[in-house]
Amino acid sequence: MPLEKRSGGSEGPCLQEMIDRAVEFHGHLGPFLVLGVRMGLLAKRELGSSGFGEMKVIAKTGGVPSLSCLLDGIQISTGCTMGKGKIFAEPPGLPEAEFSTGERILTIRAKDEVVDEIRRWRERYPSLEDVAREIQGRSDEELFDWKPQKR
Ligand SMILES: [Zn+2]
Repeated sequence: MPLEKRSGGSEGPCLQEMIDRAVEFHGHLGPFLVLGVRMGLLAKRELGSSGFGEMKVIAKTGGVPSLSCLLDGIQISTGCTMGKGKIFAEPPGLPEAEFSTGERILTIRAKDEVVDEIRRWRERYPSLEDVAREIQGRSDEELFDWKPQKR
């Protein structure tokens, strides 16, 4: 089954639709935006949550792009928005976020080699959009490490 179908689940929009929405919201397609969308989808699946309402996010990205582009991807895929006070960005500037629903916490972090590949994109890709599309097609296991905890 194609990744797009699996990642979106049976009810919600598929991955491609989610990324299209994120691009519309954010203004451009970039690898950290895609990572943010994917992080949010992974968090919803692992926590068994629809996102909206009960979920909160503390991102360690800080507020400087392009790393902070993650925040917009997370907001789109989880519905945890700034306006609702459901997402906060803190230092130190890591590609990591903590998703929580009640008692359950899930920390997700983009793998060092993925971040490194993005930082050095000029060595392998013609544009950042190409990196974003490449990353979109990878598995969660290739992109992230994640760890559930109890409060
Ligand atoms: Zn961006």
